[in-house]
Amino acid sequence: ARAELMKMEKMQIVSQMAASISHEIRNPLTVVKGFIQLLQTGRLPRETEERYIRIALEELERAEAIIRDYLTFAKPAPKETEPIDVATQLQKVLQMITPMAHMHSIHVSSSLEHGVVIGNAQYFQQCFLNLLKNSIEAMPNGGTLHVAAENRGTSVVITISDNGVGMTKEQVRRFGEPYFSTKEKGTGLGAMVAVKIIEQMGGTWTIESTVQKGTTLTITLPASRVRPPTAEQSAVG
Ligand code: ADP
Ligand code: MG
Repeated sequence: ARAELMKMEKMQIVSQMAASISHEIRNPLTVVKGFIQLLQTGRLPRETEERYIRIALEELERAEAIIRDYLTFAKPAPKETEPIDVATQLQKVLQMITPMAHMHSIHVSSSLEHGVVIGNAQYFQQCFLNLLKNSIEAMPNGGTLHVAAENRGTSVVITISDNGVGMTKEQVRRFGEPYFSTKEKGTGLGAMVAVKIIEQMGGTWTIESTVQKGTTLTITLPASRVRPPTAEQSAVG
């Protein structure tokens, strides 16, 4: 019964995600449609046409950014949970963000202990991609990004530290609130998606931040007693 309940909760989260994505994307698409219909009349002054095209392109970029914050790894497959090794998954995300980091003169370092948590690998990666991207974006003039995973037996603690712009108390309080963004082209959805995924895994998070000094995010996830797929089957027989 408990497993069934958990399965129901999972499905609910999946359909909630799908509902919010289509809701989020409808707005920019409606704007694009409207401006294209205006352009279709063909009787607009050249400057107006150029302005409408610029707005339509900006709105399409926004739709793209929203999809990135939600669905970078989405596959048309059911969102099953499974034992996942945090070091392996974080390594994958680090590999993805390293080119972006180097482009911004950011040094990336990591210290990753193995530890198994129950989750969905796709969501896990989306969560940490969003968080690491925020850290990189917080260091426009370069800096250091450090990611650590520590296995504490019953929990796995992941820390993400940057020495970027930092956050005020008010900003820390609003972290994860939908549409809260301090960026010109921000969606304000990346942190919300990350927080939801952490909560879905039964985890908690805290933020320590100082303006102009940097931010450390600490994410604590319950460890699974299931062994990782590689270290299996030695006690049997
Ligand atoms: P977006 O990145 O599109 O602005 P997010 O939901 O990802 O939206 O983040 C919300 C806000 O939280 C950001 O606009 C920023 O103000 C703040 N934030 C998140 N992570 C950091 C960080 N590492 N350093 C400073 N500010 C951050
Ligand atoms: Mg973001």
